[in-house]
Amino acid sequence: MKQSDFDVIVVGGGHAGSEAAAAAARTGARTVLVTQKASTIGVMSCNPAIGGLGKGHLVREIDALDGIMGIAADKAGIQFRLLNRRKGPAVQGPRAQTDRRLYLKAIQKAISQHAMLSVVEAEVTDLIVKDDVAQGVELVDGSRIYAPSVVLTAGTFLRGVIHIGDVSRSGGRVGDRASDILGRRIADLDLTLGRLKTGTPPRLDGRTIDWSRLEMQPGDDAPTMFSFMSEAPEARQISCGITHTNTATHDIIRENLERSAMYGGHIDGVGPRYCPSIEDKIVRFSDKDSHQIFLEPEGLDDSTIYPNGISTSLPEEVQNQYVRSIFGLEDAVITQPGYAIEYDYVDPRALSHSLEVQNLRGLFLAGQINGTTGYEEAAAQGLVAGLNAARQSQGAEAVKFMRSDSYIGVMIDDLVTRGVAEPYRMFTSRAEFRLSLRADNADQRLTEKGAEAGCVSEDRLATFRQKMERIEGARDALASRALTPQEGAKFGLELKSDGKRRSGLDLLSFPDIDFARLVKIWPELAKIDPKDQVQISIEATYASYVARQSKDVEALKRDENVGIPAGFDFSSVRGLSSELVEKLGSANPETIAQASRIDGVTPAALTLLLANIRTGGRKLA
Ligand code: FAD
Repeated sequence: MKQSDFDVIVVGGGHAGSEAAAAAARTGARTVLVTQKASTIGVMSCNPAIGGLGKGHLVREIDALDGIMGIAADKAGIQFRLLNRRKGPAVQGPRAQTDRRLYLKAIQKAISQHAMLSVVEAEVTDLIVKDDVAQGVELVDGSRIYAPSVVLTAGTFLRGVIHIGDVSRSGGRVGDRASDILGRRIADLDLTLGRLKTGTPPRLDGRTIDWSRLEMQPGDDAPTMFSFMSEAPEARQISCGITHTNTATHDIIRENLERSAMYGGHIDGVGPRYCPSIEDKIVRFSDKDSHQIFLEPEGLDDSTIYPNGISTSLPEEVQNQYVRSIFGLEDAVITQPGYAIEYDYVDPRALSHSLEVQNLRGLFLAGQINGTTGYEEAAAQGLVAGLNAARQSQGAEAVKFMRSDSYIGVMIDDLVTRGVAEPYRMFTSRAEFRLSLRADNADQRLTEKGAEAGCVSEDRLATFRQKMERIEGARDALASRALTPQEGAKFGLELKSDGKRRSGLDLLSFPDIDFARLVKIWPELAKIDPKDQVQISIEATYASYVARQSKDVEALKRDENVGIPAGFDFSSVRGLSSELVEKLGSANPETIAQASRIDGVTPAALTLLLANIRTGGRKLA
């Protein structure tokens, strides 16, 4: 390709790149996705699963904005589980174990069916920049593609190095070349770069595992789908196996620690604290003599098993030894060894909230290149970068996601204002408005916003509006029905005898009153769609908390300038994790505002800190 004319160029076909390209194309921008290997668009580099705590919220938000990840995960899902089911809906995380091939197929289909989106298979080796403005990219054969907006989503590929024990080689992930030329070029730009690392476990041949002795875990009876447009799983559903490491496993790992790439001094990059390698777990949690492992099938027609929980960079023979020390895996055959990968990332503080590089107009960055880890984090950034790249090429204003409207907003604000000290992953605890930022209401928070921004199809918008009309009708029906405590007693409701009439909505907010009980009182409510009944019940449960939370947030904003006494002993604050005590202790913030900008310091931690300072706190001896 000599010279082309597109509105948006997306470099990289991983989770950020495919979501960026799809979002740009949805707005009507002429978009080209340039990636090293077209057949790897949508590949899951590590675990065959989408969602989880915090991450599931991101997928719901991507879907509410008409993105492609949720629908693909629903199509490919072979085991759906709602995590944290025993806790409140605000912190529950939808998760699906997926068939790797079905997922890739669904993403590739979504990419190929956009009329405005084309794919070019090539390695990008340079960015064309003139007067601090991006103008396009140069490919490995020297040809150039021009566009006013470029979205770079090179993942773990920039100067990627794969490590297994003391053997290291260049690579973007197993089976793929690193992006070294572009990596060097990025290093020449006026950006701060760092090195991060992550790891993956060995893959096992499922036919060599003794499943008959293992505990099996099925999915949920009533699966929670990711997409607001999906009804039920399409693929056959399976169970995962569960086993554990033991003292023999730990001995083998401990004896070989210095041979691990992570511990043998071969890797400088910082790893994901929340997704530790088995070496990390054994060193950091030395008092534990067992760790759980989920044995997750990678697909329905694939015997490969992903042993979730034992990612490693030990030499292959040590991996063999420790895997075989595990119950049920005594004869297990490793089909691909675990490895660690180290790569360049760009300090995301160089970006604005639209994910554009502040001093290089037209260049947007999204995904692992910004220091995050995980498919969902990458896809969510991809959507924002693709959307804003397209809008910029159309001369429209950037769309900003806020901490108060989405987890997407929380993540981007965290990245661009605080930067990262380690691979950033999403948690519900990062969101101060988490009682209102629930997975169940992502569409109510974002679909209209997405439609205004031009990335939501008419179909999706119409479905959403019909749903909202139904819900409004149902809310009215509940609000217009009421009873006194005396009338309630006739139906077995124990209400405070204050003579007050309580509406159906008020009653639903009580923990022991569910929709079924209201239907006994007002049988006509049974006509309300069961899905809408669930939605309204969740809203009613949270109504008073959400109101209170808004006050707390206002108060927190007022308290930002409260000073932290010199020499304050952070370990005296009950409820602060030891990680935070360490981080606060070494940063020694002088005010609550400064403490809030330290990576990992959550609103909940700030509230604890404030309360402690107000009651006098304690100084270091
Ligand atoms: P990627 O999925 O890496 O995609 C990058 C894309 O860019 C690829 O398509 C590549 O071909 C393309 N590309 C790169 N350079 C060029 C170029 N110059 N020209 C054209 N195309 C280019 N996440 C977790 O949450 N937990 C984990 O435990 C975990 N472990 C991991 C272990 C390993 C070994 C690896 C490799 C990844 C792991 N991940 C893990 C991370 C997860 O895979 C990523 O977060 C996610 O894939 C990032 O998406 P992305 O789109 O940013 O990049």
